[in-house]
This record gives sequence, C-alpha cells and structure tokens, in this order.
Amino acid sequence: MSATNGDRWSRGDVTAVPRCPMCGQARRDPIGVARDAMVNGTDPWMLWHCESCATAWLDPRPDDASLPAAYDFDYVTHRPPAAPRRAGWLTSLIDGYLNRRFGMHRSPSSSLGFAFFSVLAPLRLKLDYYGRHLPPGRGGRLLDIGCGNGDFVALARSMNWNAEGLDPDTAAVAACLDRGIPVTQGFVSDLGATRQRDYWDAVTMSHCLEHVPDPRSMLRDVHAMLAPGGTVWMGLPNPSSLGARFYGLHWESYDAPRHLSLPALDVLLAACRDAGFSHVEPLRRGVHTGRLYRRSAQIARERGQRGLRYASITAALFSLASDLLATVSVRHADELVVVATKAPAP
Ligand SMILES: [Zn+2]
Repeated sequence: MSATNGDRWSRGDVTAVPRCPMCGQARRDPIGVARDAMVNGTDPWMLWHCESCATAWLDPRPDDASLPAAYDFDYVTHRPPAAPRRAGWLTSLIDGYLNRRFGMHRSPSSSLGFAFFSVLAPLRLKLDYYGRHLPPGRGGRLLDIGCGNGDFVALARSMNWNAEGLDPDTAAVAACLDRGIPVTQGFVSDLGATRQRDYWDAVTMSHCLEHVPDPRSMLRDVHAMLAPGGTVWMGLPNPSSLGARFYGLHWESYDAPRHLSLPALDVLLAACRDAGFSHVEPLRRGVHTGRLYRRSAQIARERGQRGLRYASITAALFSLASDLLATVSVRHADELVVVATKAPAP
C-alpha cells in the first residue's frame, strides 16, 4: 500500500520505511493518507500505526536530500521572536514564579507568584514546561537542539545557563545571529569532536525527535554528548493522545511530511534506556492543547469537514477536558515530555 507516485514527491525523491523506526517490527495498520496542512500540500503521505509499540510513522518519507525542502516556507519556529509581553498583575505573578523556580531575573515580579501557582497544578505544570523543568543553570553548558529562532536559548541564558543552539535551517540560524545568540548550523555531527562527547550538562530537544529519520541513533548521540550526570529534556507529540484520536488525520501534530515518526511513550522510555540513560522519567504536561485543538479543527474545516465535531466551541471544551487529564496523567496528553539522565561519574 503506497500513497505517493512511485518513488517521487513534488520536491524530490522518497525513502521507504517498511519497519517501525522505534521497535523494528513490520506489523502495522494504516492510519490513513496525511497531507501537508501548512503549504496546501498535494502530496499524499501514508501514515502507519505500529501494532507492536503504537508509534506512528510515515512510509515512505522524503529522502534525506529532499527533507530540507519540506521546511522551505515560513516555518513557524524560524521566524524572528514576537514582541515582548505587556506587564500586568498576572504577568508579575508568573514572573515571580519563574524567578523562584528557574532562577530567572524578571521584573516587575510578585513573590506571591510561587504560592499562587503552586496550588494551581494545571498552570504550574505549564510554567514548568516553559522552563523545560531545568534546575537553575549555575553556569552549566546547555545545548538546545533544533533551536529555531533561539527563543529558548535566550531564556536559558536568563536562567544562568551557558546556552547555545543547534539548527540545520539557514533562516533559523540567521534569526539567532541577529539576536547575538551562539548557534551552530547543522546537525550533531557538525558540533566538533570535543562537543560530541561528555561535554554538555543539559541538552533540550523541543519537538525535534519526531523530525529525525533515526530517533534511536539520535538518542545514542545525545547520551554520548552529555557529561556524566547530565540530562536531556525532550517534548514531542503523543500518537496515543486524545487529540490524535479525536481529530484523526486533521490533528495538527501529524504534520506530514516534517514529522517522520511519533514515538509512543513506552517505546520511547525503553529507547532512552537502550541508549544508555540510567534514569528516565515522563513528566505531566498541564495546560497545553488550546491552540493545537483550534488549529486542528480549522484544518478539518478547511478540508470540508462540517458539524459540531469540528466547531470552535467543541475544540474549546475538549481542550479543557484534555488539559485537566494531562495534569493528572502523562499517558494521553497531546505532548509527551521526558527527562533522561546519564549516570554520574563513579
Ligand atoms: Zn513499533
């Protein structure tokens, strides 16, 4: 069963991926034909569900040479940063929480913020995610892989991390350099030998792993580059989420053909251990689905889907329920968040 025209797509060639990229099994069910929702895509991409581990993946996918062409438009994280927020009472509570939790230095801030958000778990988890659950930096080395316009590198530097970015995209790297953010253009292999082994105290990968052809190999590379006791933080879409089930092929996080595979939670945790990490922990997500569900409903409507199921009000109510569930459980959130730690030096 193939959805593309032979071995071509509109911007290049394709590569077959007959086995699940996470567990290697060949038994699978078709989810359906996914299309690019960002560029009015006409290419049909066959999306599969692994019977063994529940990972979702594209077969075929764009080949390595044509993968950059899948990002050849105004990709969201490659734009310059948005204007600063306006100060208000809520902002000062948020900044009070962030200052105490992450060692930031925002002002104006209210010291009541920490107490306020500590009792509002759905919002506290959202703020913890914003700082990627990191401890204050104390000058440690941090690498943000897939850093886009450098927003998080700038934030990590405000948390006293000695932070740098890595991204293959020319526009993203230009946006970082415009802001004076240290960045390397390319992939892990472009970092230089010293920085690929026992070097970084923290690595962050926000919505990165689903973009790489071989996620297990990426996890091994990241384990190698971390210093003993170092951690990797990763966030990525959950193929077993409520949103994936409810919106199906209209779920924005399928994002074909840029998302090559969406690892399921259990196989992702196992892959981290296989890569050598000694401690692997999934984290609860809290509030996060509002924009995602509005956009998924909009994608469905643009494709001619009508009715209450894809109405804005349904998205809002469903998002509220989903965020509450994501506050108490890691399993069905629309985003998986995992922190893995390399064993400390003996
Ligand atoms: Zn699998």
